[in-house]
Amino acid sequence: MKLHNERLYARIPIPLQNALISVYGWQVLRRRSGPDLEAAKRLLEESERYDKTRLREWQDEKLKGLILYAYETVPYYRELMDSLHLRPSDVETVDDLAKLPVLTREDIREQGERLLSTAVKSKSLRRVATSGTTGAPITIFWDRGVEIFNNACMHRFHHLAGIDPREPFATLMGRPTVPLSQTKPPFWRYNAARRQLLLSTLHLRPDNISSYARELKRRRIAVLEAYPSSAYILAKLLKDAGEELRFRIVTLTGEPLLPPTRSFIEKHFQCEIFDAYGAAERTLFAAECERHEGLHIFEEYGVTEILDGDGLRLPHGESGRIVATSLHNRATPLIRYACGDIGTISETPCSCGRSHPLFEDLTTREEDILVLPDGRLLPPLFLLSGYGCITGIRKAQVLQDEPSAIHIKLETDHPLIAAEVAVLMDYLTKRLGNGVKITLERVDEIPLSPLGKFRRVISTVPLPKNNNT
Ligand SMILES: [Zn+2]
Repeated sequence: MKLHNERLYARIPIPLQNALISVYGWQVLRRRSGPDLEAAKRLLEESERYDKTRLREWQDEKLKGLILYAYETVPYYRELMDSLHLRPSDVETVDDLAKLPVLTREDIREQGERLLSTAVKSKSLRRVATSGTTGAPITIFWDRGVEIFNNACMHRFHHLAGIDPREPFATLMGRPTVPLSQTKPPFWRYNAARRQLLLSTLHLRPDNISSYARELKRRRIAVLEAYPSSAYILAKLLKDAGEELRFRIVTLTGEPLLPPTRSFIEKHFQCEIFDAYGAAERTLFAAECERHEGLHIFEEYGVTEILDGDGLRLPHGESGRIVATSLHNRATPLIRYACGDIGTISETPCSCGRSHPLFEDLTTREEDILVLPDGRLLPPLFLLSGYGCITGIRKAQVLQDEPSAIHIKLETDHPLIAAEVAVLMDYLTKRLGNGVKITLERVDEIPLSPLGKFRRVISTVPLPKNNNT
């Protein structure tokens, strides 16, 4: 919905808002289904049992077509490959991808429409703007093919999680559908196209929480999809209010899922959790299976590589930048796109027998990484165990604008205790070094990002550049 439409939307009666949401829901559903979706679902059912070699052959075949297409129809890739004296026939396998440089967010911003294929009709495309915590947003386009394939992967994920596509579910994430000015329930809207209850993240407060629980029980909703932080807030507020609420399945995506958050949500809702990872750039899709040993990378979706600081591919088991190539988007083909996340692909296959490799330790985004004066890069998980010494801590957020200083906001139940602060300061100094000035601040609430996400670290210090990226 565009901004001026959002203002209009806020003024119309609630039943009409529900009708509008449902009409929009039907349009999206129609665009993402049909014979093409059924074909993609059949392929994914079959390829779920491919062995490693067969999966790689499938990727190579798809990649070969993509490179030829990009060379012939995308001005940026034509020029890039010509300047590197590469012909499409030089990049025919996943291993050959190393001949091409990494594509960064800055590249996408600079190249703009030169990354758009001349073979697609712009009317049939969806324009998507994605933004990190820092930096300007980038715009890419999806064609119908990538929307269909993404939907087929969602079907596979739901199948792995044991969710019936027709069963009602609730969503606690994404765009606000309930105007902030509304002070009384319903703090939700209903998308009849998908039997989806859209819960408002912005209205989750102790005095409102019982109304959420009543509505979810009344509708007998057993499946929730949410961000880890929003599911946590729902569970915590319900727990504090003494309300019991059960879900059968909770699917989580959009933020790294930490073990304490996971067990808290699992315990309160008495549910089974399925974690998934995706990106608006549509280069990567990964999700847990019933064994919960990590997130299976859906290799039919794209080619995923882990690179070191010099742009060289790392073996499984080592942590580095996630770089991924979409095998399906023919509008803005992204080849070796560095999405800004850091991760590790497991050396061990999943015990379920599927040969799709597992992500372990899907850390975070580049802007979540602290850059220290001595050049060290610190993932936010590194600081996490230090907060354990502060009793009554709910959340902590680290802000960094220059390498030599960090500011930490602590959201706690009660005022800070000097002795605990001393332990934390000692812990931090040992890890960050004496060259970093650390300041702490207790706050009542750490605000979420406009889309309702919680960031543990927000650093505006750019990561060191290297030649390959
Ligand atoms: Zn598995």
